[in-house]
Amino acid sequence: MVQKIFQTNAELKDWLSEQNSAIIFIPTMGGLHAGHQYLIEKATQRKNKKNQIILVSVFVNPLQFGKDEDFKKYPRNISKDAELAFDAGADAIWAPVYFDVFPGGENSHFKIQVPQTLHNALCGAQRAGHFDGVATVIIHLIRIIRPEKLILGEKDWQQLIIIRKLFQELSIPIKIESYSTQRDQNGFAYSSRNSYLSDSERVNAQSLPLALKEAKKEFDKEKVINLTKIASKLKRNNLKIEYLKVVDPFSLKETENINKMCLLAAAVKCGSTRLIDHTFLMQRKPIIAIDGPAGAGKSTLTKAFAKKLGFIYLDTGAMYRAVTWLIISNSIDPSARSEIKNILKDSKLEFKNPSIVEQKIFINNIDVTEKIRSPQVTSMVSEIAKQQYVRDLLTKQQQVIGEDGGLVAEGRDIGTAVFPDADVKIFLTASPTERAKRRALDLETRGYEFSSIEDLEQEIKERDKKDSERKIAPLKKAQDAIELVTDGMNIEDVLKEMIYIFRSKIPEEVWPSPNL
Ligand code: C5P
Repeated sequence: MVQKIFQTNAELKDWLSEQNSAIIFIPTMGGLHAGHQYLIEKATQRKNKKNQIILVSVFVNPLQFGKDEDFKKYPRNISKDAELAFDAGADAIWAPVYFDVFPGGENSHFKIQVPQTLHNALCGAQRAGHFDGVATVIIHLIRIIRPEKLILGEKDWQQLIIIRKLFQELSIPIKIESYSTQRDQNGFAYSSRNSYLSDSERVNAQSLPLALKEAKKEFDKEKVINLTKIASKLKRNNLKIEYLKVVDPFSLKETENINKMCLLAAAVKCGSTRLIDHTFLMQRKPIIAIDGPAGAGKSTLTKAFAKKLGFIYLDTGAMYRAVTWLIISNSIDPSARSEIKNILKDSKLEFKNPSIVEQKIFINNIDVTEKIRSPQVTSMVSEIAKQQYVRDLLTKQQQVIGEDGGLVAEGRDIGTAVFPDADVKIFLTASPTERAKRRALDLETRGYEFSSIEDLEQEIKERDKKDSERKIAPLKKAQDAIELVTDGMNIEDVLKEMIYIFRSKIPEEVWPSPNL
């Protein structure tokens, strides 16, 4: 493909209509550096269709600069930018002028106002209207470009969160992918504004990433975060702190809940240059909770997802089924709670997994992997699963398995009761009709007989009802879970969607899995 630089909308639009391609869009303000290069390279590596093109825009957006900020001196060098972008794999560059983006001038276009809670959390507190300007320009750029995907850096984390929220709230069907902050050999984050620093300022500026890195190390070891200590390091190096905070990475509210992933973020002034940086703090590896009703495809997808991530796969339904099998095979009445308690307190439940696909479940050293899938177990399991003793026992075991994270667990109450602090929560569902069809296929494959799909649908509805209406840990979507309705979707599509959700919750910097 010929690499092109477009200055006007008309030229760009003509070319785009000739290409008939899906656009991967990387908006920038120019002054391109190794951070931008990484975004373009990532986009290039991840092109998965022939007709995708990577378009990089270079537009210094006046709307996001305050009165006394550096709009005029912001680095502008289109030929240097073009060279870097094309070398990294960009197909085209669009460098519009102001009136291409805002043809009627500033006062004749819609503007976006970012919610105060997000705007004023970190950078926006000192930069009035900054993120309104960012959000507004993004809307106008995508109005012109109509991309399939937007690529943004994680360096400007607050910007990323705001744009994600904006797209979600306005139901803009454009995927947003983000990639980690790139740093030089001293750990100093690349930024277009680094070019303002004198040599001596640069030495001082290095203490910002260094202090954050040390704080993260201390957190990993001692589980504490000492902001005063970080602040004094920064001050010792003549950096003026604008903010230094530990916040929830998504709401951006200050937090003390270090059980969940936190963002340690700072903005400082080094001479007259404003620098930002951050690091994520996490006590354990990520936990992914996959909940949903019977037959939504949870098992297949959870297994595939765990395999992709190299994480532990935990099928909590199998645990309830194994216990149910034990009760049935000892001819215990499902309502005889003390008998159930007696047999369970001396029983041993364990997973043996040479590989995720061949994972086996044993109860009292009996391999029940296949036996627990029988229609008899299926029809009784909800009755057993609603009992307090059973739930407490199994929930505790599940929490022990997930103690260090690095786990994908499926069930009904993972995101609500077992791991309420799970980092990614997905509620997987499908219509009862679709689920009955899938269940029929599963039974056929396993060699079980069933009367009709209609009966299976009825049975599924009854199990949903029992699971959702029970008093303890009922089946319900956690308030912070993302619902995925899988009707008509194939496994690959759902898996892609799950990976996308994972990536929107776990930044590349935290979990740089090459498989995703
Ligand atoms: O997912 P599966 O169909 O194997 O689950 C079997 C049953 O186990 C569910 O219908 C539900 O009654 C119970 N269960 C539960 N909590 C979980 C997982 C399964 O109550 N976390």
